[in-house]
Amino acid sequence: MNSAVPMRELATAVDAPVLDGDAVAPYLLDATEARGLRGRADAVVLARTANDVARVLAWCYEHDVPLTARGGGSGYAGGAVPDGGVVVALAGLRSVRSIEPLLWRAEIESGVTTHEVQRLARENGLYYPPDPGAAEQSQLGGNVATNAGGPHAFKYGVTGAWVTGLEVAIAPGELVTFGRGLRKDVAGYDIRSLLIGSEGTLGIVTAVRLKLIPPPEARRPVVAFYGDAGEGAAAVLHAMASGTLPAAIEFFDGAAFAISGRAFPLAREHADRPAFVLIAEADGSEEEAATGQMLLREALSAGAEEVLTPARPEEVAALWRWRDGMGIAADSYLGGKVSEDVCVPVDRLAEVVAATHEAAAEGQLEACSWGHAGDGNVHSSFLFDGGDAAAGLRATAAAERVFDAALALGGSVTGEHGVGLVKSPQLRKQLSPAAADIHRAVKRLFDPKDLLNRGKKVA
Ligand SMILES: Cc1cc2nc3c(=O)[nH]c(=O)nc-3n(C[C@H](O)[C@H](O)[C@H](O)COP(=O)(O)OP(=O)(O)OC[C@H]3O[C@@H](n4cnc5c(N)ncnc54)[C@H](O)[C@@H]3O)c2cc1C
Repeated sequence: MNSAVPMRELATAVDAPVLDGDAVAPYLLDATEARGLRGRADAVVLARTANDVARVLAWCYEHDVPLTARGGGSGYAGGAVPDGGVVVALAGLRSVRSIEPLLWRAEIESGVTTHEVQRLARENGLYYPPDPGAAEQSQLGGNVATNAGGPHAFKYGVTGAWVTGLEVAIAPGELVTFGRGLRKDVAGYDIRSLLIGSEGTLGIVTAVRLKLIPPPEARRPVVAFYGDAGEGAAAVLHAMASGTLPAAIEFFDGAAFAISGRAFPLAREHADRPAFVLIAEADGSEEEAATGQMLLREALSAGAEEVLTPARPEEVAALWRWRDGMGIAADSYLGGKVSEDVCVPVDRLAEVVAATHEAAAEGQLEACSWGHAGDGNVHSSFLFDGGDAAAGLRATAAAERVFDAALALGGSVTGEHGVGLVKSPQLRKQLSPAAADIHRAVKRLFDPKDLLNRGKKVA
């Protein structure tokens, strides 16, 4: 491997702006910065077209130089944190190649932000349901690469459920499409699905074909506060048995609500220090949403200290804005945070929340949990003084105990953030030897020189 990239050659070969020296600094981090992760790179190529990406990849393959794809840098797994070589930044791939409202579909380049994709759909009378929390920063390509979820994945599925085709730069440097703008297509192997969630280790996504749907007319959430965490966790199952299909079921444990509750936007009479808070939302036509809200209210009332049923669109929007701010509130609470995203069967939610607090107590740390309760996806978070490196190490050790607890409960080490750099050792615990062999064989097939996001995912 060349450790120093011959800059002049690279700049000539790719015909796109190339950064080096101090200018690469902003491209060495992602949202794992709060746990102290920082990479290194010799050069950053600011790609502007899909062909630029293919050319960078070809050049790296020819010169044996590692290559890391970078989207919005909002990842929580260190996936975009480079370990030397070249970073290709995708933010310049901003074209909406097509939007066809009558066919409910679009083809969009990978550097367009999630928020812009959502807005584009809305402006065309349609709905793009994936709603990962860093929508203003994350990019469509990054969402595909991590198969990002979000609160409304409970009803509508994660990013991959909306992808019908991908244009990808693959080794040794060509653009290939997998899937088309079709709602059904079983010709060939499902390589598109293999690439979705592959975290830049198999190829670099340059454009995405999406299917879209008409938006629900109304959204009606129910917020329930519980004095007992066990009753709150049990209420998740009550919501699922309510007789309506909730669009989202989100939760906060008492510690998470204590951190972000001051900004809670709806008026409450009781429930000052709840042990558990649930948000379940019904959507559909006005009538469906109102009926769904009533059913959810009934289902969530058992054991609740207080139940709120906001109906005005501005209240609903404020509630979800508040929900989206939870991760940032936890980031800024003490300055240091190790936050994981284990996934367990829904009926084991309370156990993984308890395991998080046990691990925190052992490590003399503060902790909180929140997340996508209906999907069993828990953001187990350990909070510490950002300047205290020893506490950071204890937090990493505490997170490892939560990974083990999740696996013992029949869960996964990651439900949505991906494996990246930080969970690569954990993946080895989850995959059987035969499954790990197949992963490595797939990696070799796509990336025989092991240059694409080296050291991540299947390391
Ligand atoms: C406040 C906050 C809230 C969040 N909430 C959620 C949430 O609700 N649900 C959720 O799933 N995640 C969430 N995340 C994590 C993060 O936003 C997602 O993982 C997101 O999909 C990452 O997209 P990105 O463009 O920022 O990718 P990056 O962080 O830049 O990269 C992530 C990975 O994808 C690869 N990659 C990026 N672009 C491409 C491409 N075009 N082709 C191939 N590989 C590529 C990178 O190499 C890396 O491995 C949250 C993060 C923050 C900071």
